[in-house]
Amino acid sequence: MPGMDLRICHLYPDLLNLYGDRGNLMALVNRARWRGIDVRVDEIDLGDSLRAGAHDLYFIGGGEDRQQVLAAPDLRGSKREALGQAVARGAVVLAVCGGYQLLGHYYRPAEGDDLIGIGLLDITTEHPGSHGRRLIGNIVIRSPLAGGHTLVGFENHGGRTRLGKAVRPLGTVLTGFGNNGEDRGEGAVSGTVVGTYIHGPLLPKNPALTDYLLGLALRPRYGEVFLQTLDDRLELAAHAAALTHAASPV
Ligand code: GLN
Repeated sequence: MPGMDLRICHLYPDLLNLYGDRGNLMALVNRARWRGIDVRVDEIDLGDSLRAGAHDLYFIGGGEDRQQVLAAPDLRGSKREALGQAVARGAVVLAVCGGYQLLGHYYRPAEGDDLIGIGLLDITTEHPGSHGRRLIGNIVIRSPLAGGHTLVGFENHGGRTRLGKAVRPLGTVLTGFGNNGEDRGEGAVSGTVVGTYIHGPLLPKNPALTDYLLGLALRPRYGEVFLQTLDDRLELAAHAAALTHAASPV
């Protein structure tokens, strides 16, 4: 698609980056470039300013509590307003695990003060403390954002997330824990904002979701974009292998 470009913002690329989260960027960038779309990725760190309108898609990865303590106040600073304005104009935000928790109202860690989030998603997260086990393992969910197909990946979190009325889950847990290990919900979606516990990384093995997000991110500037089909044999084989793995844990 000559003439089109996509501007991606990777927030806290070194601070929040677990289990190959950076691979999500690679999937987005490559799947756009393979279709002739120009892509630029800006890495925005602690203390950097964010300009609303400068990006079509924002990605935030996961991190442990220590990293979240650093990221939370920075996100709540000037970045919160810019992100809010960008979302109001239709920009996409994808956040994984620790990043997902910070998009909510608050994250209550096992120790220390609550980390106040930016409220882009109507969710709250609480760690059950030292007696609560971590929710770890392969995860499979069924998601309307993947056309009703499965999304596969890996989760590892202590926090239990509860959804408010202004969000819906990204999908229903088939294998694994998801938001809290109780209600079978995984992730949260509100308009163009998507949060999830799925690492792995998420996007390379889930090309349907990647393309959904690309289409969504291009929409404000280009309208409904037809993304041509790609040869996804490798991606789908990886997806199938993850499904098999999740069905028969070692
Ligand atoms: N600190 C959070 C938790 O354990 C997030 C962990 C993560 O990003 N993997 O709930």
